[in-house]
Amino acid sequence: MPYYDYRCTKCGETFTVKMSFEEYGKKRVKCPKCGSAKVERVYVAVAAKTSKKS
Ligand SMILES: [Zn+2]
Repeated sequence: MPYYDYRCTKCGETFTVKMSFEEYGKKRVKCPKCGSAKVERVYVAVAAKTSKKS
């Protein structure tokens, strides 16, 4: 299942939502921190994500 990265335009929280493509078209994504629906998609390069070492 694909992951979608979002950023809340209200509080600036970034979060990842895991959902199917079908859900993506229907689901209302809300910020888990403040509950705002004013979120925007964040496009993260896959390479940058997988190569990250902590
Ligand atoms: Zn928020």
